[in-house]
Amino acid sequence: MSTSINPRVASMQPSATLAMAGRAKKLKREGADVIALSAGEPDFNTPEPIAQAGIQAIQEGFTRYTQNPGMPELREAISTKFTRENNLDYSPDQILCSNGAKQSVAMAVAVLAQEGDEVLIPAPYWVSYPEMARFSGATPVIVSTTAESHYRLTPQALDDAITDRTRVLILCSPSNPTGSVYSQQELAALVEVLLQYEKIVIVSDEIYEHVIYDASHIPIATQKGMLERTITINGFSKCFAMTGWRLGYMAGPINIIKQASKLQGQLTSAPNSIAQKAGIAALNMDQAPIRAMVQAFRERRDFLLDGLNSIAGVHVPKPEGAFYLFAQISDFYGKVAPSGRKINSSGDLCFYLLEEHLVALVPGAAFGDPNGIRLSYASSMDELQTAFNRIKKGLSELVS
Ligand code: PMP
Ligand code: GLU
Repeated sequence: MSTSINPRVASMQPSATLAMAGRAKKLKREGADVIALSAGEPDFNTPEPIAQAGIQAIQEGFTRYTQNPGMPELREAISTKFTRENNLDYSPDQILCSNGAKQSVAMAVAVLAQEGDEVLIPAPYWVSYPEMARFSGATPVIVSTTAESHYRLTPQALDDAITDRTRVLILCSPSNPTGSVYSQQELAALVEVLLQYEKIVIVSDEIYEHVIYDASHIPIATQKGMLERTITINGFSKCFAMTGWRLGYMAGPINIIKQASKLQGQLTSAPNSIAQKAGIAALNMDQAPIRAMVQAFRERRDFLLDGLNSIAGVHVPKPEGAFYLFAQISDFYGKVAPSGRKINSSGDLCFYLLEEHLVALVPGAAFGDPNGIRLSYASSMDELQTAFNRIKKGLSELVS
C-alpha cells in the first residue's frame, strides 16, 4: 500500500541543528572522540533552586494537567518579569505558555499566516522559521543580510522586501545563528518602515535576551506603535539552562493569544506541570547563576572569536549575544583535503570537519547563508580549545 503523506510534511526539511547534533551523538556512542559544537544548548546544569522546585512539584503530587494557557501563577510571574525587565505591560491573559519557544513561534506563525501570505525572514535565520511558515501554508521570503552589517536587517532591505502579501516579519535578537543584537537606533529605523504597513505583525523571538555581552536587549514591542503588532516570544531553555524541561511562552494582543490558546488546546494542551513550577522558581530566584553562565559564555566567545579570525580565510563578525559564532568560510571552497575530499559547500566543509577532524558544526546553508558555518560555544573551555585546534589543523590541510 502506498501511503500518501501531506505534502506540507513530506516537503519539510529536517531540522539541521538537531540532525547534526544527533549525528555527533551517534558517532560519540560508537566510540569516536567527537566534540559537538552543533546544538545550541547550554552545557550547564539547570540551576539548583529551579531543579529543587521541580523535584518538590513531583513530591507534592503536582503532576496533573494545568490550565491550558499555563498556571495562573506562572503567567503572573511572566507578566511581572515583563514589567521588571522589559518595561512591557502584558497582563497574564496576554501570555500563553507552551512546550518550548519552538512551539510558541510555530503557533504564532500558524495563527497569523495562511496561504497567499508572505513571511519575511532575515537571513541567516534560525533553521525552523522557514519551515514553520511553509507549514502554515504561507511563503517564506528570505531577506539577506551581510557580514559587513553584522547580519542585521537594514531598513532599506526591509522596505524592498515588503509586498501587499507580507503578513509577518520574524525577528530574532540576540540572533541564532549570528549572535547579532539590534540597537535602539537600528530598531527605531526598522519600526519607521513597519509603521507604514498596517498589516504586518512582528514575531519577535527573544529567547536569548539574557545571553548578551556588549549590548542591551531592546524588545521591539517597547517601540512606538509596536505593542499592538508584536508577538513577543521567550522561554526558559537558553537563559536558565532548561532545554529538556520544555517551557516557552508568547505574549501579545489578547485576540491573537486567544486563538493560539485554542490551537494549543486542540494540539498539545498546557506544558508540563513540573516544568511550570520550575519556571516560576527560575523567574523568582536570585539571578546570580545566570550572570555566571553569561560570563563564562563571554570568555568562550572571546577565545573562539580571536582564534577563528586569526585563521586566513575565516571571517567572523563579533557577536554581541547568544552563544553562536557565524563564520564566513567560502575561501575554502574549491580546495581539496589530503584524503581527496573536495570542499565545495558549507555542508562539505562540515562533513569534512566532522568525519576527518571530529568536530561537529552546522552548515550555513541550513541558516540561509551558503558561505557560512555555525559554531555553538556552549561547551567547556577545554573542549573549545581542542575543537579550535582541530578546526585550525583541518582548514590548514586544505589545498587548492
Ligand atoms: N528560538 C530560537 C532562536 C532558538 O535558538 C531556539 C532553540 N531551540 C528556540 C526558539 C526554541 O527553544 P525551546 O523550544 O527549547 O524553548
Ligand atoms: N535552537 C537550538 C539550535 O539552534 C537547538 C536545536 C533546535 O531546536 O533547533 O541549535
